[in-house]
Amino acid sequence: MSSPSARAPLAERVEELLAPGGPLPIVAAGDPVLRAGAERYDGQLGPALLARFVEALRVTMHAAPGVGLAAPQVGVGLRIAVIEDPAPVPEEVRVARGRVPQPFRVLVNPSYEPVGSVRAAFYEGCLSVPGWQAVVARPAEVRLTGADGNGRPLDEVFGGWPARIVQHETDHLDGVLYLDRAETRSLAANETVLERWAQPTPEKAARELGFDLP
Ligand code: ZN
Repeated sequence: MSSPSARAPLAERVEELLAPGGPLPIVAAGDPVLRAGAERYDGQLGPALLARFVEALRVTMHAAPGVGLAAPQVGVGLRIAVIEDPAPVPEEVRVARGRVPQPFRVLVNPSYEPVGSVRAAFYEGCLSVPGWQAVVARPAEVRLTGADGNGRPLDEVFGGWPARIVQHETDHLDGVLYLDRAETRSLAANETVLERWAQPTPEKAARELGFDLP
């Protein structure tokens, strides 16, 4: 537990951030808060402020729009993230990528470990790196542990696209951006992904851009 005096600065920072209401500004790559590694959440905000902060993260994620958002992406260095994916994609994309709907979840102090050795590689983007996407090979299944927004323990295996989302968001809390793990030769502007690499899998992109898939 932190002492009240140690708690105050972060809580004040969050109060200031929430004061205007509406979606929060998203921090872009280059800001040290995205590289610092977030502090373990240990009640620094208190239950009421935590609930308001989580709601602001949800509103910001929806407005972006995105399927996940980590606290450092709004400038708050705490191990808190939200995820939600309605997965509005065609059937062939859903099957190839495992892009199944993921209901709204709050992840507090999450960490993950791979389950098995299968890796999956797909184009991925980040709200803090706007305009670009790159292929990232990640464990296809992970075991996620931590807690939810009410402090209830979380211990669950994620597969498919939700596995990718929870890894991406947990990486943010460790100061890791998806580009650190990406096949850099796959890097493509959003418009180019839409025009050329919207296939369910990145095999054509791998051939034509010259990068390896697992
Ligand atoms: Zn991101």
